[in-house]
Amino acid sequence: MEQTTVDMELSQEQELGRSNAEPLLSIEDLHVSFHTYAGEVHAVRGVTYSVGHGGSLAVVGESGCGKTVTVQTVMGLTPIPPGQIKGGRVIFNGQDLLRLSEKQMQSIRGKDIGMIFQDPMTGLNPTMTVGRQIAETVQRHHKISNREAMDKAVEMLSLVDIPNPQVRARQYPHQFSGGMRQRAMVAMALACEPLLLIADEPTTSLDVTIQSQILDLLQNLQERLGMTIVLISHNLGVVACLAKDIVVMYAGKVVEKGSSSDVFCNAAHPYTRALLRSVPRLDREIRGELASIPGTPPDLFQPPVGCAFAPRCKYAMKVCTKCDAQPIRIGDNHYVSCWLHHEANPNNPLKNQFENGGHTSD
Ligand code: SF4
Repeated sequence: MEQTTVDMELSQEQELGRSNAEPLLSIEDLHVSFHTYAGEVHAVRGVTYSVGHGGSLAVVGESGCGKTVTVQTVMGLTPIPPGQIKGGRVIFNGQDLLRLSEKQMQSIRGKDIGMIFQDPMTGLNPTMTVGRQIAETVQRHHKISNREAMDKAVEMLSLVDIPNPQVRARQYPHQFSGGMRQRAMVAMALACEPLLLIADEPTTSLDVTIQSQILDLLQNLQERLGMTIVLISHNLGVVACLAKDIVVMYAGKVVEKGSSSDVFCNAAHPYTRALLRSVPRLDREIRGELASIPGTPPDLFQPPVGCAFAPRCKYAMKVCTKCDAQPIRIGDNHYVSCWLHHEANPNNPLKNQFENGGHTSD
């Protein structure tokens, strides 16, 4: 059953009583800055997205686009200072996480929300056995004996397909391969049966074969356990199989969001289309190098007026540098923030391509 929603107008619809299902996680107009010696970095600039119970959402964009800062803020892991949450709400399971104390967040982190990091060594303690670490995570949130907690650790290692889990539970992280360490991280993140799993670039440090095994594992667990997952990646190719819905971020903002087929088959934002051209495709003959996106992302010390992608966009118009485009609904749950798609622009050069399947030949 399709349960994920990525509806920019959700909170408005809820106010009007038109929404039946509350999303599990709803990030609303989130603004986060960092104060540095060089000035204030506006890392997250009004991000809004949501994911429903049992849904799978991927957030993609280049490094520094604010995707990781957004989920770190959800987890209460943004260092304050230098970070500052300048506005917005993060509603998780009916409560605003931004209003909770650190103590209250500690009872949610690891229990109701699990997280997998890019580098498994960041999340694993090299001086403790893997089984003991998983057991301690469980005991932090549940009053159970050491024996019961170790049994749970072995069960979790088995769940993530680690062979000989009884033996492996007594080993240290350095005795695991990179892929096995990431599986152990998944086991630890799921040990308390969280409602939401956030996976931040979970396969970036792994080779291609192991990457695909970890993604298959996450997809399998998501389907078997009915778990809600938010996957963060700089690579659209990585999220293709796992995510039902996709949010594309650029320079601290959401520029496009929709279902996986909306984004892969009918990408509407020039940045999304450029990202897609940089991903290898099995259904196309490779006639040269993959395209890279010319130019660099803007300086978020002084975010540009208007569309932040304008200096890199071959379709940029006068209006783009004067005023930022607001989200425009172009499909059931498909939104894009780009002046090309505004109703006042009858000469949208992407419109014909969009109507013909939106393939990214531009
Ligand atoms: Fe390009 Fe203008 Fe659309 Fe920005 S708003 S992506 S500059 S066409």
